[in-house]
Amino acid sequence: MTVAAPYPWLTRHLERVGELLRQGRMPHALLVTGRPGLGKLTFATSVAALLICEDRGNGHVACGKCRACCLQAAGNHPDYFHVTLPVDEKTGKVGTVIKVDQIRALSERLTLSRHGAGHKVALLEPADALNINAANSLLKTLEEPADNTVLVLVSAQPGRLPPTVRSRCQQIRIDAPATDAALGWLAGQYDGPRPEVFLRLADGAPLRALALAQENALEERRERFDTLVGLCNGSQDPVAVAQAWAKDEDLKGLGWMRDWIMDLLKIRMTGKLDGIHGIDLADRLQRLASKLESRVLFGQLDRVNRTLQLTDSSLNRQMMMEDVLLAWADTGATSRKR
Ligand SMILES: [Zn+2]
Repeated sequence: MTVAAPYPWLTRHLERVGELLRQGRMPHALLVTGRPGLGKLTFATSVAALLICEDRGNGHVACGKCRACCLQAAGNHPDYFHVTLPVDEKTGKVGTVIKVDQIRALSERLTLSRHGAGHKVALLEPADALNINAANSLLKTLEEPADNTVLVLVSAQPGRLPPTVRSRCQQIRIDAPATDAALGWLAGQYDGPRPEVFLRLADGAPLRALALAQENALEERRERFDTLVGLCNGSQDPVAVAQAWAKDEDLKGLGWMRDWIMDLLKIRMTGKLDGIHGIDLADRLQRLASKLESRVLFGQLDRVNRTLQLTDSSLNRQMMMEDVLLAWADTGATSRKR
């Protein structure tokens, strides 16, 4: 594990952890929350490195030079444990839940004595992927914390954790930085056009904005939007499109579709483009909004949201995607008849 330089908006949170350490008030468990794209894992990793460092003095970042820091950077520190989604050895597929065996193994290792002079640290991410048995098993460790041991849980969806687990952790919520600060940081990472558009598309999350900028998302978003318009006017085949979109990581196309439907509703109801999410496609959204009824759009939004919530399950993604896109193509067919 290498310790990444913390992002500027994380500094005050790290300072707070440093303060707790200096005062000897470090909690036994932290829960780091915040939307994707804000650097939660980087922050948690920095906290772990700080706790393990044997020469941190009064600082809030690990020294990076001591024996413990070197072991940690090489991924070999015996007092550091990282629990995450398991990878199937045969297929290479990443699982969707953290299982009870993983937590039992962790608990056992946490009871062993420390090797270094720093803390023992366990990083659990994404903590909301703990299944119910795993969460119950973790609860026992949280209820009987060992000395000099800190659990760091990371979750974008803390509401999915049992309240009993949540209540035993001190929460650190990472919020999006102010727009000016985020744009300033983005400008140092990316020198292409319209960084403000990417930041808006990322709901203010700088790392997400940078990823969108680097993957040339504007071009792809335009193509996807054109495909949806094509489905509406009957020039695209919903089954073929579903096959392609089902392959998206995190169902990104469907996520964009949800944002666009919400924008279409906003435009229909207010008659304005103010406050819409898809400012890169404002003209096209406005044109499409004039052709679709709000009642129908609400139905579509409902269907898309339900499908997005099911993405964790083993249901056939392509079939779910076909349902959504066939219904969307029907919307277009109906509006053409009117
Ligand atoms: Zn160190």
